[in-house]
Amino acid sequence: MRGLVVRNTGSWYEVKTDDDRLVECKIKGNFRLKGIRSTNPVAVGDYVDIVENKEGTAFITEIKDRKNYIIRKASNLSKQSHILAANLDQCMLIVTINHPETNLIFIDRFLATAEAYRVPVSLVFNKTDLLDKEEQQRQDELINIYTKINYPCFKVSAKLHTGMEELKNGLKGKVTLLAGNSGVGKSTLINALLPDLNIKTGEVSESSNRGTHTTTFSEMYELPGGGYIIDTPGIKGFGTFDMEEEEVSHYFREIFKTSSGCKYGNCTHTHEPDCAVLEAVRKHEIAESRYISYLSMLEDKNEKKYREAY
Ligand code: GDP
Ligand code: ZN
Repeated sequence: MRGLVVRNTGSWYEVKTDDDRLVECKIKGNFRLKGIRSTNPVAVGDYVDIVENKEGTAFITEIKDRKNYIIRKASNLSKQSHILAANLDQCMLIVTINHPETNLIFIDRFLATAEAYRVPVSLVFNKTDLLDKEEQQRQDELINIYTKINYPCFKVSAKLHTGMEELKNGLKGKVTLLAGNSGVGKSTLINALLPDLNIKTGEVSESSNRGTHTTTFSEMYELPGGGYIIDTPGIKGFGTFDMEEEEVSHYFREIFKTSSGCKYGNCTHTHEPDCAVLEAVRKHEIAESRYISYLSMLEDKNEKKYREAY
């Protein structure tokens, strides 16, 4: 029987079978995955084959090939990885202009990593009910920057349920990972999308200290309109993606596109003469904030200083 892994508690997996049952499964055999050493061979979002015994126990016997997956290093020193989710259609990054203010470098690093994973991302601007005129303007500026480079943007208030129809449309029929810094309203938004669920929000999540360790498990929820959302409690974004210095610019769409006009093929877009990217930044064709994020990722190649943020 084929099924979809929708929950992983560490010791067993909950699998939604093709005939629409939820079956608790253990793993049978030894799943060695090519290329990655993982603390969890099976992840939420995996399609698997299961075998059910007469005694009522069930085992996962095979993992189907993954379209993609995102990982997180078990720890900085460890070579082991934890697979957060597999087979994503897209990611939605929840951000807020204020209360708390989401850092633009964080957003751009997230987008760059998603490019590297080849997972499409949309931005969800939450807490729009809290914004004054100036903040609304700032939000529109950012939405302008990101829609211009083809990242869809949504404006919502998870609290007042505004903008939810557009968001639901964007989620329909897809497997979507929800990400965002703590406090941006991810839990509130999930509750708004799944009124029957009622997951903890606000202070409670602080005190229970969830997600500070790598034993955090992802959960997948089926949407009433079709499709799934995946929540990775306590995890703000993707794991770091090891990229070479030359590669960084490939993951900033507009910088990559513009770089074809640079004089030197190995241009880093920092100091070189006849650099089309620097020229575009000067002319405001490339947003300064995006360029600053690019520089911060370049620096990070040496200093690894922003790794903490992930
Ligand atoms: P999480 O850490 O991202 O899961 O954030 P929570 O969902 O726990 O929300 C953090 C706080 O922001 C809570 O006090 C929520 O009530 C509040 N909050 C979430 N969404 C909104 C919103 O759209 N508007 C307002 N005003 N508050 C919100
Ligand atoms: Zn250049």
